[in-house]
Amino acid sequence: MNNNLLMVAYIAASALFILSLGGLSNQETARRGNMFGITGMLIAFVATAIAGVHLNAYPLLGAVILPGAIIGAIVASRVAMTSMPELVAILHSFVGLAAVLVGFANFLSPESSLTGIEATIHQIEIYIGIFIGAVTFTGSIIAFGKLRGVIASKPLMLPARHFLNLGMLFAVLWLGYEFMGGSLLTGLQAVLGMTAIACVLGVHLVMAIGGADMPVVISMLNSYSGWAAAAAGFMLSNDLLIITGALVGSSGAILSYIMCRAMNRSFISVILGGFGAGTGKASQGSQPAGEVTPIQVEGAAELLENARSVVIVPGYGMAVAQAQYPISEITKRLRDRGVTVRFGIHPVAGRMPGHMNVLLAEANVPYDIVLEMDEINHDFPETDLVLVVGANDTINSSALEDPNSPIAGMPVMEVWKANTVIVMKRSMASGYAGVDNPVFYKENTRMLFGDARKNVDAILGHLSVQELAASR
Ligand code: NDP
Repeated sequence: MNNNLLMVAYIAASALFILSLGGLSNQETARRGNMFGITGMLIAFVATAIAGVHLNAYPLLGAVILPGAIIGAIVASRVAMTSMPELVAILHSFVGLAAVLVGFANFLSPESSLTGIEATIHQIEIYIGIFIGAVTFTGSIIAFGKLRGVIASKPLMLPARHFLNLGMLFAVLWLGYEFMGGSLLTGLQAVLGMTAIACVLGVHLVMAIGGADMPVVISMLNSYSGWAAAAAGFMLSNDLLIITGALVGSSGAILSYIMCRAMNRSFISVILGGFGAGTGKASQGSQPAGEVTPIQVEGAAELLENARSVVIVPGYGMAVAQAQYPISEITKRLRDRGVTVRFGIHPVAGRMPGHMNVLLAEANVPYDIVLEMDEINHDFPETDLVLVVGANDTINSSALEDPNSPIAGMPVMEVWKANTVIVMKRSMASGYAGVDNPVFYKENTRMLFGDARKNVDAILGHLSVQELAASR
């Protein structure tokens, strides 16, 4: 493929990636956005394979691509929606590892045509690329472990941890100085040392983040993986990789910033591994106490029938139970009877941004009754009934009422202000952040224990029986 044609292909792919990001910003255009992204990636892949790979390297390319594509397709098609964030985290780690490997390959077989300042810039690109890649690699593995539950979500608070991070950063700078001036051997020793430190830094930064702040970390690692890809693009002199990496890097950073604002968290604090965060322990006096008031399916169905306005607040438990389908059916039935039904979505409900919106769209809940937290929070005092389906941290009143709570200051769905709240969950266990929830003990709260799917199905059954009786 000649160079002009390659450039045209790269520009087309870049434009498709930008259109894809635009499409993904809205549920109604998300599918189209996805298609743009897939087409852009296909063009990029074919153009790069034709232009950048020597004919006799095709068997090797095939031998690498084919198993990768097959494994990727199988894993992606089998993954449950609730495990999607883990998959995303582990994929970020691959991007980080790729940037590290590209960096080492570039260092060990340098482009001989580069001299003077160009060669120096190339060295810097390699060093930075490997650094970002290594932090992303190990940070994403820890994020994967925390999301999967194999590593505790509690923040790891080592003594003098910020000095430790600072020390590691200085060591990286010093090794960078050695790397730039030294021979091939000293350069290799320096870059190997820096990679080891960057790997430890990645682990430490993410270990220090508590469960409630994990969403921001995931999106930050997404951003880092973009910058790592852009750095790899510089090393390989590949314009498309630079553009794509910059798009991922900047959109991930913007998303992290938006999430930090939505959760009332300091952006800088989260990037620096919880800098300035408290110890993460709830104050002793703040433990919720009292009796909970259980309710059965029949009682819950009755409350729903008699309500004029209902707000449904879904959380991670709805995703686990796959309760969105009967929830959608209940919504339809209630709306047919003239009840105002709306959904309230917290920005970090579930285990990834937009998790709840995707599930509700999948179950054909109309977009116009699915509202963001800020749009619905002031309506709770005028709401007859709130149905909480497997949400916990995102409805935790201690965020507003207890300054010592680990989630203090985080905006939450103020469901307890409604006339009655039904909370559906299986036990009194805490949510992802591991914080007790005083809402369960409030006078106007009714606890409907059990699997959300079973209970929602049973409520739907009751509503159907009532309808049948009324039609006779
Ligand atoms: P939570 O994790 O706080 O709570 C979910 C609740 O669902 C649990 O208390 C659990 O209680 C219940 N549950 C689980 N399975 C079922 C089931 N089958 N039927 C009924 N209930 C069930 O969820 P939220 O959505 O409220 O909050 C999300 C949390 O995840 C926040 O802390 C957020 O910071 C964090 N997070 C969010 C990410 C994002 O991007 N959205 C990414 C990473 C973390 P029980 O066991 O008693 O049933």
